[in-house]
Amino acid sequence: MLKNLLKTTAFAACIALAAPNASAQDLLARQAPVDKKMRAVDSIAIQKLLQTEELEDPAAELYPNWNDDQINLYGGVALPSEYKIDLRGFCMPTTNRIVTSNYGYRPRFRRQHKGIDINANKGDTIRAAFDGKVRVVDYQPSGYGNVVVIRHPNGLETVYGHLSKHLTKRDKVVKAGDPIGLAGDTGFSFGTHLHFETRLLGEYIDPAKLFDFANQDVTGDFYVFKGRGRGTLLGKHDGKGEADANEEVRYNSSESAAAKAQAKRDAQQSARTRIHKVKRGETLSSIARRHGTTVAKLRRINGLRKSSKIRPGQILKYS
Ligand SMILES: [Zn+2]
Repeated sequence: MLKNLLKTTAFAACIALAAPNASAQDLLARQAPVDKKMRAVDSIAIQKLLQTEELEDPAAELYPNWNDDQINLYGGVALPSEYKIDLRGFCMPTTNRIVTSNYGYRPRFRRQHKGIDINANKGDTIRAAFDGKVRVVDYQPSGYGNVVVIRHPNGLETVYGHLSKHLTKRDKVVKAGDPIGLAGDTGFSFGTHLHFETRLLGEYIDPAKLFDFANQDVTGDFYVFKGRGRGTLLGKHDGKGEADANEEVRYNSSESAAAKAQAKRDAQQSARTRIHKVKRGETLSSIARRHGTTVAKLRRINGLRKSSKIRPGQILKYS
């Protein structure tokens, strides 16, 4: 009974998309004087037009560029002190309810897990979480495997990793619920699952703050991202307090002091800008030396092949 009810809720959520979304309404409100006459003529047509334009360049007020080959290049871009993320009109990316690994520090790999892992069977359909535009479709053998990144009008970018197959293309406009891939085990993965990330301008937000996979629902109508790593839920969960978003570090009581210290260093590290703008005459090895890393790591995290050349002005991540 409960199961059926929950299923209905998730289904209804995906269907609810047919309604005009809030950003389009906000746009209309701001443009009220201009649109007054036109709205009398055909408000639905205008809303559709605005929605279409918004999807051609989602969250343009937030993102400085549309780069379609790097997953995150926003390290140097200032974050808004507060940003209200509209979660209405969502669709759960998978109908699977079992979270196999939470967001946060993983002692096993001595690093942050920057997304959430949801159990899946190979070939399960993975769906776009919101309306948006597909920014990255890539294969990263040592990391995400087959990966899709979508930018959404609500400001989020969602990342779907380890897919067995892509079902979408770069620059494609998608609606929430559109199939974008099939679940798999590609890349740095142990067993079939969906690795799902939610980011705002490249800043990680714990997906569990936004999506409740067990109940196939969002955690509220809105999520307010506050500065670095702070967020508050509104709507359904209004007033239920502050939540650490992207800098949350989970500890098990059995973890060693060394692991905790490492987690703290990781958190501090992620709080710094970790990009390097290539200057004339620099090489990967000189950049690696400068930032205390290796050429191999620079290549790996920037998706550079052995044959790739770097050029002045190019932005590289170095950790
Ligand atoms: Zn994962």
